[in-house]
Amino acid sequence: MVRAGFSRRHKFFPTRTSRIGVAQMKFEILTIFPDFFRGPLDYGIVRRAREAGLIEIGIHDLRAFTHDRHRTVDDRPFGGGEGMVLKPEPIFECLESLHIAPREERMGEDARQTVVLLSPQGELFTQAVAQQLMGRERVVLICGRYEGVDERVSEQLADREISIGDFVLSGGELGAAIIVDAATRLVPGALGNAASSQQESFTANAVEVGVRVAGEPPSSTCGSGGLLDYPHYTRPAEFRGMPVPEVLMNGNHDEIRKWRRRGALRKTLRNRPDLLRQAELSKEDRKLLAEIEAEQERAGR
Ligand code: SAM
Repeated sequence: MVRAGFSRRHKFFPTRTSRIGVAQMKFEILTIFPDFFRGPLDYGIVRRAREAGLIEIGIHDLRAFTHDRHRTVDDRPFGGGEGMVLKPEPIFECLESLHIAPREERMGEDARQTVVLLSPQGELFTQAVAQQLMGRERVVLICGRYEGVDERVSEQLADREISIGDFVLSGGELGAAIIVDAATRLVPGALGNAASSQQESFTANAVEVGVRVAGEPPSSTCGSGGLLDYPHYTRPAEFRGMPVPEVLMNGNHDEIRKWRRRGALRKTLRNRPDLLRQAELSKEDRKLLAEIEAEQERAGR
């Protein structure tokens, strides 16, 4: 069955129900710029996951939940100050139309859905947060604009406020697209090769994603385990005088694994040493890390 993913006035962006009848995950995006999502969610893995019915995306135009001639969604801030603030009424009404009650009423009853307010004042979005959202049947993403959203939305409706980084964007739409993309990659079946999402940068909890056996010490797989990914190369084997590292072509899987792990450790040490403090490192990892640090010392870095 093909049906429109946009509520009320938005008929583009068709989605299908899955082969098993119900999508594993549904995103509901509340925005004053529904057309914004024509591009970002229409390519690659997200598009394929939609077409396969693994995810569904509903885009809800907040202006469709206004009742005045000008379809007003914003107003001046109480207390004075710069700019405009998104009004609460369209957001509350839109959630009611989706049969989502205020947070207090949902507490403990419906852990299957999460209401997220995109905000620079929120907790930081990380791969771990993407994992948590992926477990939900329905994730509602409320996109702010202007100076932000009337605080009663955070107080009464949102389960969590999420920021996609320590910077201020003009609106929550880019953040919502980022969250949909990152969570969709983790939906079983969304990636051609399920193992790739288990070995990517930041994938910290290797037990949950099946990289290592619960109860056993971490082994030095080449995959992330909370580090950055290792360097990748493809054809040609030599490009403008730059050869691909010999070890990747010798067919020795243990040497390749070790070289990749060393590459992941080196990159993490250089670009994100903070991740090393949290990563669970094996004995072999610590030995490789000591070698890298000694190399860097010798090179005077
Ligand atoms: N006055 C707010 C502040 O200083 O924290 C900034 C409001 S911002 C211009 C407008 C909207 O963009 C926010 O309500 C939020 O939905 C979205 N936004 C901006 N930066 C964001 C970020 N880093 N993460 C998530 N959403 C963001």
